[in-house]
Amino acid sequence: MALHRVATKDSAGFDDVFASPLSEQVLPKYRMPEGQADPKVVHDLISDELLLDGNSAQNLATFCTTWNSDEVRRLMAASLDKNMIDKDEYPQTAEIERRCVHILADLWNSPAEGDTMGCSTTGSSEAAMLAGLALKWRWRQAREAAGQPADKPNLVCGPVQVCWEKFARYFDVELRQVPLEPGATGLRPHQLAHHVDENTIGVVAILGVTFTCDYEPVAEIAKALDAIQANTGHDVPVHVDAASGGFVAPFLRPDLPWDFRLPRVASINASGHKYGLAPLGCGWAVWRSADLLPEELVFQVNYLGGDMPTFALNFSRPGGEVIAQYYALLRLGREGYRRVQQACADTAQYLADRIRDMGPFELLYDGRGALPAVSYTLKPNAGFSLYDLSEQLRTRGWQVPSYPLPAARQDTTVQRVLVRHGVGRDEIALLADDIERSLTRLGDGGTGAPHQPGFHH
Ligand SMILES: *Cc1c(COP(=O)(O)O)cnc(C)c1O
Repeated sequence: MALHRVATKDSAGFDDVFASPLSEQVLPKYRMPEGQADPKVVHDLISDELLLDGNSAQNLATFCTTWNSDEVRRLMAASLDKNMIDKDEYPQTAEIERRCVHILADLWNSPAEGDTMGCSTTGSSEAAMLAGLALKWRWRQAREAAGQPADKPNLVCGPVQVCWEKFARYFDVELRQVPLEPGATGLRPHQLAHHVDENTIGVVAILGVTFTCDYEPVAEIAKALDAIQANTGHDVPVHVDAASGGFVAPFLRPDLPWDFRLPRVASINASGHKYGLAPLGCGWAVWRSADLLPEELVFQVNYLGGDMPTFALNFSRPGGEVIAQYYALLRLGREGYRRVQQACADTAQYLADRIRDMGPFELLYDGRGALPAVSYTLKPNAGFSLYDLSEQLRTRGWQVPSYPLPAARQDTTVQRVLVRHGVGRDEIALLADDIERSLTRLGDGGTGAPHQPGFHH
């Protein structure tokens, strides 16, 4: 038996995405369409458009997580509907955030007697705003209590990430960026005395400078501030921007004191979504003790019939990233984080050695001692620029950025490669091969004439 039913044109359905009416037109870009469309077709067409984005696994410019396990994806999907701010409705998500703060306070050696406080954020940028605000409020309170003017706050730092420039502009603080000295990869402690004064709300020390990937010497910076206090009476706190280093140094340099082991360190921020191995959208801010966080900045939200203090710029925010952070901390443990970061560091050092051996490059940072990364510049008279090299590498999908160093080394152009979880040794070996091939092409007058790799045995 066969029932032959002639389908009408409207109900025929278009199983093939590329024969559907929507696929035969340019997608609406500036106005919402009048009618509805088949969800699968819309999904597939948008997915196809996104293929034009760079491949995140080959994005060697980013510090951020580009590889996520199936378990993380499942937890993220299961918490799509959870709002981090609704502490009363999602008490276990709030509890998991609290556990993460405890774990990080412990990882960063918060004092045993301490009433360490902290919170999750959307990233280090939001954490920097919160930590900067706390510094500004405390400075102002102290100035007003002493009957002194409190209208010209400044923040002293080296080559900081743009979030600190934003903090300074948004919250009306003078940013005193100390110029880089020749050969320096970050702030040098002896420079501080020229920039710190009675209006300095704090000094930002960077554990993993964005431009060079090196650590600034936090302990020596703290010591220089001790000397400044002895000479001038200005007691200036340190905030450590450990966006990347906060999840690397505890595992690869456990004996390096950069954290709450230094009494002058008041607060620390880190990006869970960088070397913290959480998916995008997770950062952390932690204060040594509750008294460093002015009460006026903390809001009480209703929580299981009680009050829970919150300090955040956002209100609604997804809860999944924090849950995935907790997963990563439990799943890997200290041993797992150490192995992941060590594997990245070993690969970065392998790349540094290959790059050094190629000839035209001068290493600025060789992947040893700080972040799993390499930064380098070009020796004089190479006949091409690092921007040319970035472009050559782009033809193979590699995203390796070139940019000028900050003042006063802005004449130096550098290139940087970040090795992260999921960027493997073989991938980096293929990158190094492509850099060598690009050098051959650029050396041929930069014509981009195809270089024929031989088939040697
Ligand atoms: C990435 C980074 C930031 C900004 O962090 P987000 O998590 O991207 O907001 C701040 N400081 C440093 C040193 C960084 O590397």
